[in-house]
Amino acid sequence: MKNKKEFAAIITEAGNSIKNKTGSWRTMKPIVLKNKCTACGICAKFCPDGAIIIKNKKMSVDYEHCKGCAICSVECPSHSIIMKEEKK
Ligand code: SF4
Ligand code: SF4
Repeated sequence: MKNKKEFAAIITEAGNSIKNKTGSWRTMKPIVLKNKCTACGICAKFCPDGAIIIKNKKMSVDYEHCKGCAICSVECPSHSIIMKEEKK
């Protein structure tokens, strides 16, 4: 039997999300309700892609890498992140 290789979109090394623009995988998009966000940073600690930036007491999402998993939305204690369908 021949050893047949098949190619697919598989990421084989851990910790390489900086190199891969995983934002294109997203079907749902996190939207920050800026009037509610306290910039506590909890969402950034939970984001598996390191796609949340807290700078100058403001939180923002790096949409080039955010995969839309919604973990940030679930973990935010003040319910400041809502998920909306991604429009492409
Ligand atoms: S967890 Fe919620 S309140 Fe805290 S920085 Fe994130 S969005 Fe803002
Ligand atoms: S939806 Fe997931 S990947 Fe995107 S910012 Fe929130 S926790 Fe990170």
